[in-house]
Amino acid sequence: MHEKLFSFEFFPPKSPEGVDKLREVRSQLSTFAPRFFSVTYGAGGSTREPSLAAVLDIRAAGLTAAPHLSCIGATRQSIRDVLGEYRQHGIRHIVALRGDLPSGMASSGEFRYASDLVAFIRQETGDWFEIEVAAYPETHPQARSAPEDLQHFKTKVDAGADVAITQYFFNADAYFAFVDDCQRLGIAIPVIPGIMPIGKYAQLARFSDACGAEIPRWIRKKLEGYQDDTESIRAFGLDMVTAMCQRLLDQGAPGLHIYTMNQAAATVEIWRRLGLG
Ligand code: FAD
Repeated sequence: MHEKLFSFEFFPPKSPEGVDKLREVRSQLSTFAPRFFSVTYGAGGSTREPSLAAVLDIRAAGLTAAPHLSCIGATRQSIRDVLGEYRQHGIRHIVALRGDLPSGMASSGEFRYASDLVAFIRQETGDWFEIEVAAYPETHPQARSAPEDLQHFKTKVDAGADVAITQYFFNADAYFAFVDDCQRLGIAIPVIPGIMPIGKYAQLARFSDACGAEIPRWIRKKLEGYQDDTESIRAFGLDMVTAMCQRLLDQGAPGLHIYTMNQAAATVEIWRRLGLG
């Protein structure tokens, strides 16, 4: 059996306190020796500086960092500049995304889809970067249909992606069905489940609405029922998410990518329960 691919996602901190806190979180999670820590990138380049700073901070600690790069609103030259910067710093992984057009931004720029970005990165930098892309087991919210979305995913993989990371989900069957569909289409790259630990319910419900991740009714009802009882939400969330991770790994998922929300506690506990920590 080959090794599982584990990675942890951060967003760029907004304050000096956030920077210090993220260092502490990273230090705790680094004991699990993930393949990389990834850092999100605000659509339209809105976090270009803090994202790069967070990436360099991870690298300065001797760890592997994978910057996200979204192309909506960007020009070819601006992406070329960012790629050059990453390359100059010796960065070898990129999570390549389309992003969503920020409100108020009129032009979608010179890239329409993430597949255009992947093709551009390959054209400009050859095999320098390992490229990760996004996948949607429950279908991207803007897709006209699941089969079309899958076909677009294949186009993105064929453009040169090495690994896919999924949007988070709470229904492992959706993931397994998606992986089967990928296999039928001849998509051979690893599709790593993206995992969202459950923290605050209101925030999770808002996120999930926006990104098209379904919170199954039974989970929603449980979480709503706990109201402000954050300890019960946390305990239920850990049980539910850990059981799903265990099932995913047992049934062949090639790894896990945790949306840490810049917090260590949930991931540490999930890792401990999975016997990985
Ligand atoms: P695409 O793969 O381009 O797909 C977007 C939509 O276009 C889909 O509906 C697809 O079916 C459709 N499509 C694709 N190709 C075609 C075509 N040729 N013709 C017609 N339709 C087509 N966002 C950020 O801003 N910053 C981040 O750092 C970030 N990190 C993320 C990390 C992960 C792991 C995931 C899953 C998402 C992340 N996102 C991030 C969110 C992401 O940018 C959004 O979900 C966005 O709406 C889609 O990005 P994509 O790369 O999947 O786009």
